[in-house]
Amino acid sequence: MIAPSPSRPVEIVGGGLAGLGLGLGLRRRGIPVIVIEAGSYPRHRVCGEFITSLDRETIAALDLSPLLETATEARSVTWFQAGAAHLVHPLPVPALCLSRHYLDHRMAQRFVELGGELVTHQRGDLQAAEGRVITTGRRPKSASRWIGIKAHFRGLTLRDDLELHLGKGAYVGLTRIEGNRVNVCGLFARTPSTPSKQSKRSILFDQLNRVGLADLNQRLQVAAGDESSLCTVAGLDYGPAAPTDGALRLGDHFGLIPPFTGNGMTVALQSARIATDPLRAWSTGQCDWPTTVQKVHRALHRELSPRIGRARRLHPWLLRPQRQRWLVKAAGSRLFPTRLLYHLLH
Ligand SMILES: Cc1cc2nc3c(=O)[nH]c(=O)nc-3n(C[C@H](O)[C@H](O)[C@H](O)COP(=O)(O)OP(=O)(O)OC[C@H]3O[C@@H](n4cnc5c(N)ncnc54)[C@H](O)[C@@H]3O)c2cc1C
Repeated sequence: MIAPSPSRPVEIVGGGLAGLGLGLGLRRRGIPVIVIEAGSYPRHRVCGEFITSLDRETIAALDLSPLLETATEARSVTWFQAGAAHLVHPLPVPALCLSRHYLDHRMAQRFVELGGELVTHQRGDLQAAEGRVITTGRRPKSASRWIGIKAHFRGLTLRDDLELHLGKGAYVGLTRIEGNRVNVCGLFARTPSTPSKQSKRSILFDQLNRVGLADLNQRLQVAAGDESSLCTVAGLDYGPAAPTDGALRLGDHFGLIPPFTGNGMTVALQSARIATDPLRAWSTGQCDWPTTVQKVHRALHRELSPRIGRARRLHPWLLRPQRQRWLVKAAGSRLFPTRLLYHLLH
């Protein structure tokens, strides 16, 4: 009798949602996996912590149900423009609100419980190689005009499940996460006058004032901020994705969706789900590596690229006050196809 050939190990570089999600999917199928992560867990990340339209198929394939039990549900959104509430609309599908501090940590723990090998505090090799998957998040662009900032607050009353505040070249989301805390997270376009270095403590408040969100700033000033949760990210690029070099890329490293959609985490997890079965086939010798990469990228382009492209085209409308006013007014009309737009972006 011929002994079954042992499965080949998959190496995942980057232990965010895409990397850990893929690690969980593969370990559930008995495939040997190593995840190499530059940082450690738990850790805070710049993220709105608002998960939209995460489908049942992805939750089941990656066995995420027990990890999402702590999430709170969000059912409606209020849009604020120039400090005033303009538009309230229900979400066609309830969103999940959960901190990355909790979620990434629990996913990492679960991956290890399932027999995965997790190496932290180590940078992995980013060259394309057989059996290697790159999930290192955004591809940093030094000329990027964007910075992302997030912090948790206590003692803050929200006016809706999600408050979305539009400022000049910026938007900021507020949502309640586990532990009765509020996550405040914003994307801000840099201007030539934006100082490249600001003190960590004042950066969020300074940016809110700069983009005309002084009212929100005042609400935050009297709440209790958790300074350890404050983090920033730069080098974000919402332009077209760079051509691939044969490497297998998932999550933000495949394509960055603008954060107003609240869909980046879903894209990361869905890309992990899409890659799981083709990688199992490679690992067990049923498919060669170039065909596996091609299959996964084709499926990613089919399922995710149209959504990412539409969100990128809409993004500028959320940033310029004149367009924001038009958008908010149009969206207030009963004829505005809010549900259709939501489905095109999720
Ligand atoms: C301002 C802002 C707000 C957002 N709000 C939301 C929201 O509300 N909802 C939502 O769904 N999405 C949101 N997103 C997007 C979401 O955070 C990302 O889409 C998601 O984190 C992508 O997951 P990922 O696994 O691809 O990348 P990441 O989560 O970035 O993980 C990449 C990992 O790779 C590691 N890494 C990097 N380089 C190396 C290396 N060389 N070797 C080893 N490890 C490495 C990093 O340390 C990191 O842990 C927001 C993003 C921003 C910027």
